[in-house]
Amino acid sequence: MTGAMQDQVAIITGSSRGIGKAAALALAAEGASVVINYARSSTAADEVVAEITEVGGSAIALQADVSKEDQVDALIKGTMEKFGRIDVLVNNAGITRDTLLLRMKPDAWQAVIDLNLTGVFLCTRAVAKIMLKQRSGRIINISSVAGLMGNPGQANYSAAKAGVIGFTKTVAKEMAARGVTVNAVAPGFIETDMTSELSNTEEILKFIPLGRYGQASEVAGLIRFLAADPAAAYITGQVMNVDGGMVM
Ligand code: NAD
Repeated sequence: MTGAMQDQVAIITGSSRGIGKAAALALAAEGASVVINYARSSTAADEVVAEITEVGGSAIALQADVSKEDQVDALIKGTMEKFGRIDVLVNNAGITRDTLLLRMKPDAWQAVIDLNLTGVFLCTRAVAKIMLKQRSGRIINISSVAGLMGNPGQANYSAAKAGVIGFTKTVAKEMAARGVTVNAVAPGFIETDMTSELSNTEEILKFIPLGRYGQASEVAGLIRFLAADPAAAYITGQVMNVDGGMVM
């Protein structure tokens, strides 16, 4: 496959489905070799790898719970052993454990912080060494509009996603001198497994000027631009929304 990302390598965390899968397909279509990271069962990840390789792309599936330091280190080591470099990291893996503050148990708080915030720190720190040495790299952190505007029932999630934004800006400043860009993408309501069980769809749609949920491919379009487009080399430390106009 030929494209803007020929000879480049991208890791997308949590990429066996949803936004991560759409991002992996988009980067593979640009010619990147992609690492499909999954936490537990390999079945869906293997299917994404097959979808990419069947059309001439390059992909491998690697297991790692990215909230765990030793597993993140193994993910990066496995990628380097297979491909020898890392050009793009998409910190996409995320979970929700929604409930109102007064009912929120410490384990629901901690699980969301551990993956959605600490996982971003662990993966970014692990690839930073490699990208700084290469003097190039693009890191894209998936935040959320919940991190910008808050959302009842999501104290844990919105705190983690707001944390990702502060983290993005600091790391962008730390890594800019070596040509590494770090940006955040903040999706609104996107049609994936994460939103499939929301019951108040009618209510939600009232707050979306474009009047519909977004598609994973629409978030992946921005990720592809930030990861692959030469023009994105001059964009760093930014938060970009893909939210149908929800936050403006
Ligand atoms: P999803 O639930 O479909 O996908 C999440 C992925 O993360 C899954 O592949 C899952 O296996 C993986 N994952 C879970 N725990 C993991 C772990 N410990 N280690 C590695 N991978 C793990 O959700 P999605 O909607 O595709 O969400 C992707 C990202 O986008 C998340 O960070 C989410 O918070 C964010 N986001 C989603 C929406 C939305 O409306 N869907 C809105 C804003 C932000």
